[in-house]
Amino acid sequence: MSKVAETVLEVDLGALRHNYEFLKSTLRPDTKFIAVVKAFAYGHDSRRIAPFLEKLGVDYFAVAYTSEGIELREAGIQTPVMVLHPQSVHFDDLADHRLEPCIYSHRILSLFLETAKTRKMDAYPVHLKFNTGLNRLGFGEHEVERVVTALQEQTNIKAVSLFSHLAASEDPDEEVFTRNQIAAFRRIADNFEKLAGYRPLLHQSNTSGILCHPDARFDMVRSGIGLYGYGNDEIKDRLLRPVGSLKTVISQIHQLEKGDSLGYNRGYIAEKTTMTATLPLGHADGIGRQYGKGKGHVSVNGQKAPIIGNVCMDMLMIDVTGIDCKEGDEVIVYGKNPTAEEFAATANTISYELITGISRRVKRVYIE
Ligand SMILES: *Cc1c(COP(=O)(O)O)cnc(C)c1O
Repeated sequence: MSKVAETVLEVDLGALRHNYEFLKSTLRPDTKFIAVVKAFAYGHDSRRIAPFLEKLGVDYFAVAYTSEGIELREAGIQTPVMVLHPQSVHFDDLADHRLEPCIYSHRILSLFLETAKTRKMDAYPVHLKFNTGLNRLGFGEHEVERVVTALQEQTNIKAVSLFSHLAASEDPDEEVFTRNQIAAFRRIADNFEKLAGYRPLLHQSNTSGILCHPDARFDMVRSGIGLYGYGNDEIKDRLLRPVGSLKTVISQIHQLEKGDSLGYNRGYIAEKTTMTATLPLGHADGIGRQYGKGKGHVSVNGQKAPIIGNVCMDMLMIDVTGIDCKEGDEVIVYGKNPTAEEFAATANTISYELITGISRRVKRVYIE
């Protein structure tokens, strides 16, 4: 790993390859892989991550919104892209870029059918989302017949896949709930096939579904967090490699005497002589105030240094008392140690929120 001279998110493409190959190795060879690259590829920049994954051979990409799918097409992606949560105002843009909408309600279905008819589409691929307990998006189990009827009345669109999303796939205490979700999805799929006369591709698993529920793999899986190195579980995490490492450098070191304060609102008061280091990283970069006041820790020359006082917009301060360090030295915020999962836990959040929140201001550097 290279030493850095400014704040960077170092993206290890070798780790990304490892994670993809590991996740693939847990699947049957014919199970298709949907790489979830929404939210800027979980902060790693989809314009770099998606082309890399396309070369590795993923079958599909998934993004949340149409604009994210357009970014993939502009980066040259040819692989099919599903848009998980399209907004109807963007349906023309979506079609212009050959993006495939996920249809989750009768309202969205009829709005997309209007677009499909106006544009004289023929068997345009769409994905139907069913709700099996997350209660977030999706048709209900009882709506299969009405959906099939609506589809049979036209030829403009065709359901190429049927899917659902697990609510607690990482949680062994929710095993019964997850089994019920899987059973409900099977019933929906069987009923759809009976009524429609064909079986679309089925998918229900996110990363933790892949890792914890082999019977929920169906024809395709949708993995996001696992590709980036996290498995929502300490043991699973060891099988994966963190892709992103947030690194920065010490801008300046200060010596505080007993009673001196540090930063805005005097958020820290020294109880004794204290050495502090100021880093060019703040809440505008994605490290929020919840990491301040001693909660988060970073790594300086292999030693743990707490973030003290209030995190500022462009800077934060750490306590380096007793740590052998100087201005210009590298600081690791998260990566291998601590991991994003561990760092996020200090502020009561999860790796997902931390890594997707690293703002575009932070330079991404790619290594293989
Ligand atoms: C974000 C998302 C995923 C990816 O989940 P991970 O836990 O990151 O693997 C899969 N499916 C849907 C519907 C999603 O919204």
